[in-house]
Amino acid sequence: MSRRIEPGADGFDYEVRPIPATRAVKTYRCPGCDHEIRPGTSHVAVWRADDPERGLDDRRHWHTPCWANRATRGPTRKWS
Ligand SMILES: [Zn+2]
Repeated sequence: MSRRIEPGADGFDYEVRPIPATRAVKTYRCPGCDHEIRPGTSHVAVWRADDPERGLDDRRHWHTPCWANRATRGPTRKWS
């Protein structure tokens, strides 16, 4: 599988992995909109590309459109 690297809103590069609906079996909270991502919802998991070891522990799940629009999401929410 090829890696998909995209810049985050915080200036770091993130590896992005699409999670298909059939693999989405848990509820996550999207840091973009602060709403839940329900099981069965296709979305994306992202983590720091420059620090994969730490990144995998610190993976974030986003709604696909929220990640796409991350740059316009409010600066009020810090990631960490
Ligand atoms: Zn969202």
